Amino acid sequence: MDGDRLPERTCVGCRGRGPKGSLLRVVRTPEGGARVDRSGRAPGRGAYVHPAMDCVRRAMRGGALARSLRTALGQAQAASLVQELTEVLGAP
Ligand SMILES: [Zn+2]
Repeated sequence: MDGDRLPERTCVGCRGRGPKGSLLRVVRTPEGGARVDRSGRAPGRGAYVHPAMDCVRRAMRGGALARSLRTALGQAQAASLVQELTEVLGAP
């Protein structure tokens, strides 16, 4: 029984694991794009990534994020997701 343990999720960027709350959730949109799920509870298929640009870049570069969401992100969709992630992370 491990019911007392925090649920863990795998980062699609570095494949490292972490407690659910420490990872950013990205959710597939009905249009087949993806957006940051700031509530962590949005319906739809989700993927997790560490709140670090390194992990975000790795997740995007290899297509791991899109694969995990079972969608094919177009260039514009990928760009707007990266833009949103950058805002959430407060990266320059
Ligand atoms: Zn990571």
